[in-house]
Amino acid sequence: MRPLTSFALAMALSGAVSATAAPVLPGPKFPQFADDKAVAAACDRGLAGATRRVRALERHAPDARWTAASDDLNAYLEDVAGPLYVLENVHPDKAIRSAAEKCTLRWQDFFSTMGQNEKLYAAAKKVKPRDAIDREYLRVTIDGFEDSGVGLPADKRPRAKQINDRINELGQQFDRNIRDKKTEIAFTVEELAGVPENVWKDKPRDGEGRVLLGLDYPTYLPVLERAESAAARERIWRAKSNEGGDENLKLLGEIAQLRREYAELFGFNSYADFTLRRRMAESTANTQRFLDDVKAVLTEREVRDLAELREAKAKHVGQPVWSVHVERWDVPFYTELVRRERYDVDQDAFRAHFPPQESLQFVFKIAEKMLGVRYTRVPAKLWHPDVQAYAATDVATGKPLAALYVDLYPRDGKYNHAAVWSFRNGSTRLKRAPQAAFVVNMDRKGLSLEELETLLHEMGHALHNNLSATRYSAQAGTSVLRDFVEAPSQMLEDWVYDKEVLKLFATVCPSCKPVPDEMIDRAVVARDYTKGIRYARQHLYASFDLALHAADAPAPMGLWARMEGATPLGHVSDTRFPAGFSHVAGGYAAGYYGYLWSLVVALDLRTAFEDARLDPKVGMRYRKQVIAQGGQHPPKQLVRDFLGRETNSKAFFDWLRE
Ligand SMILES: [Zn+2]
Repeated sequence: MRPLTSFALAMALSGAVSATAAPVLPGPKFPQFADDKAVAAACDRGLAGATRRVRALERHAPDARWTAASDDLNAYLEDVAGPLYVLENVHPDKAIRSAAEKCTLRWQDFFSTMGQNEKLYAAAKKVKPRDAIDREYLRVTIDGFEDSGVGLPADKRPRAKQINDRINELGQQFDRNIRDKKTEIAFTVEELAGVPENVWKDKPRDGEGRVLLGLDYPTYLPVLERAESAAARERIWRAKSNEGGDENLKLLGEIAQLRREYAELFGFNSYADFTLRRRMAESTANTQRFLDDVKAVLTEREVRDLAELREAKAKHVGQPVWSVHVERWDVPFYTELVRRERYDVDQDAFRAHFPPQESLQFVFKIAEKMLGVRYTRVPAKLWHPDVQAYAATDVATGKPLAALYVDLYPRDGKYNHAAVWSFRNGSTRLKRAPQAAFVVNMDRKGLSLEELETLLHEMGHALHNNLSATRYSAQAGTSVLRDFVEAPSQMLEDWVYDKEVLKLFATVCPSCKPVPDEMIDRAVVARDYTKGIRYARQHLYASFDLALHAADAPAPMGLWARMEGATPLGHVSDTRFPAGFSHVAGGYAAGYYGYLWSLVVALDLRTAFEDARLDPKVGMRYRKQVIAQGGQHPPKQLVRDFLGRETNSKAFFDWLRE
């Protein structure tokens, strides 16, 4: 189970619903483990229960009830295994994280064995679907067995399982190397000139009185965006660009080779060919053509954006334009400088308006207005005292829907990006409540507008889980095609730039100073500035991921140096970006393009909200026809049902050219 993340990087609301009792958290309590032994014991019990249930399903006749019985098994597996995938990434106790990692490896072994279960595969093929939902369930189930190697010749099957297990183990090591490594970089106070004082004032000092800074986002980004000293920016940028180190390069290389070998077992030339045939994009050729079309629009824009940054740098350092170079660690700094000077937009100025807790209530309020769901805080003991529990309730009926656990702030040993683990999926048939973990790393002092956007993006994933109303748990919420899953989240990002939407902030925080309208107007204009640079980078990531999973499965570092080297800013020697690229080591393999592909769908979906982003009628239709449907119908059909036409890329390319 991989989390859904944001590439750049969710309170109790007043007013009672029809029910008067205080809400309780729907679904089971999140498990508490006293120590690593307790994790191991729970793991043994869960696996034993799972094995018994698989045996029982093997004995089940392939009749009309088989599909439901198979989904009962899925629900059980989520309940016993799901929380472990969260804990290995967020638990404050390293021993518990390690025990959870050991347990998820055992689950992986279980899943890859089950994937090759001939009896279950044969049964799934015999079952007669009753309707389109059953048919889609069985199709995806059969594809899943086949992609796990059940249909391979007997001599190749053990290798397929071995490769699957090994890739998971390597992926876990890859993430651990980033998560558990505590990097601190020393800066003199002079070197931090320009960086807001609240970022570094309370940080630890070394023996020489220098400030020690980590690489968490609330620290890293302000240094890169605000430090006047190019040398200081370069140091922290290089540290971030080397996260994971040579060990992760080696791991990623091995992962890519194993994926190629895996695809070859199935008669495919490349892992991209093997995996893309199941996606919205349908093939490597379609994916490549899409990326080429995007590139054709971006190239000129990127060059123009960089020329502007170069002029800004020349002015700032007092040298002629011809003599200055824009370095990679200059880009965020001069982007922010131009935004402040030309557009009068200072991301830090938003922090005073957006305290973190109230920001969370704000994104909940958006969901309430638009989608008719209310979030109410409920006391609960979770993995850390900072983590908050919320009950989601349907506003119209007062019906309890789901639970959401929110982990807002950075700490040592915690997953360092922004992600949602949809660890328990709902089912109407089972009256089963969804549960998700919402994990971000926000600044306790307040959010910038861009961080508020990240918060809303992640809320999009949480809503996809929480508002799901599918028959089967295996088709619920975010169980959709990988190149569609970011669309609901990316659609919402735009909402924080809407004055009407931002007015909701006053309803959750009457004492917060409202953001002046002119400040939003300016932020909207400034947002488009350097779009070329931003999306050219996304394009590079997507192209690198696709090339890494091509027929030759090249070594990651050489490939990256070559591809990054061909961009206007070039490659910086002694940096190892791929070593920190956990998306690609994990579940986004040959799937990173999905962010751009989903964005096409997101912008198309957004056209329905052009007149009013919080329109409850359009919102409820969207909830019922897209969000609630999960993966029980293909995404193209869901979008067609909602928009009343086939989806197209017009809105996306218009926006890219703007
Ligand atoms: Zn996302």
